[in-house]
Amino acid sequence: MSIEIKTIGVIGAGQMGSGIAHVCSLAGLDVRLHDVSEERINTGLATITGNMARQVAKEAITDSARQAALSRIQPAVTYDDLGACDLVIEAATENEEVKRKIFTNLCPSLRPDAMIATNTSSISITRLAASTDRPERFIGIHFMNPVPVMQLVELIRGIATEDPTYESAKEFIGKLGKTVTVAEDFPAFIVNRILLPMINEAIYTLYEGVGSVDAIDTAMRLGANHPMGPLQLADFIGLDTCLSIMQVLHEGLADSKYRPCPLLVKYVEAGWLGRKAKRGFYDYRGEKPVPTR
Ligand code: NAD
Repeated sequence: MSIEIKTIGVIGAGQMGSGIAHVCSLAGLDVRLHDVSEERINTGLATITGNMARQVAKEAITDSARQAALSRIQPAVTYDDLGACDLVIEAATENEEVKRKIFTNLCPSLRPDAMIATNTSSISITRLAASTDRPERFIGIHFMNPVPVMQLVELIRGIATEDPTYESAKEFIGKLGKTVTVAEDFPAFIVNRILLPMINEAIYTLYEGVGSVDAIDTAMRLGANHPMGPLQLADFIGLDTCLSIMQVLHEGLADSKYRPCPLLVKYVEAGWLGRKAKRGFYDYRGEKPVPTR
């Protein structure tokens, strides 16, 4: 039996977690938002409030829909505050240790029939499921960034994921008005298996001096008709997330073609993580983004 999902827990109130809370609340679901501190939760709530206000200004949603949606999101300071959830979606930092620890500590607070999903971009669903007490009710639900805008959601079953879990997840994504593609549980699934090596290659192109940031992004926007250049996209995704995904591809597929570019490593070591840190391949601290190389 698939379960009907009415109350959602979201762990991690960063770019993705706040986006997931945003679309779930607009779809009429109750949301509990958790992060490491109240301050982080409040930052996430402020992002959602700002993004919804922008949607009202563009007449994408009404002001009463915005108000109703915001009233459905409650902060969850502890895991016990997620006890009533039908589904908890983990959208914390892309780091296997961090995620495993979350699942181990979260499970005792959940109802036995509650489902758990991870929004990981690359890490094995089967391995993450093994750190829970319910691998049969565990699944990968991979939203794209920015969640309110992007149509696709990848669904990834682990080895133990049972059919009702898969059916409930599919129904839930349908309720959000999004489209599902199913991917097998291999490193980085479909979208990032293809996208990240391209971004990494763009960074090698910069590293080897083939072109400047501006030349590379202009080339791919106007030469390949991509809506955004690959370095701009890397900043948008977050360079720490990009590096983690390349490391998972490199280790998981044991092929040197996935070797993360040393320049990507250097940017991450500098804390230049892209838009969220106000600096990456572009500097966002001024009025207009300025290339950093
Ligand atoms: P982010 O850095 O914006 O947010 C991560 C959040 O997780 C932060 O607020 C952080 O405080 C929180 N966090 C860290 N440890 C935690 C813990 N133990 N408990 C609770 N919260 C914790 O990152 P993001 O871009 O939102 O990425 C989150 C997840 O979504 C990652 O797994 C990433 O791979 C995936 N994802 C990212 C993108 C993207 O384009 N950025 C797209 C799809 C999926």
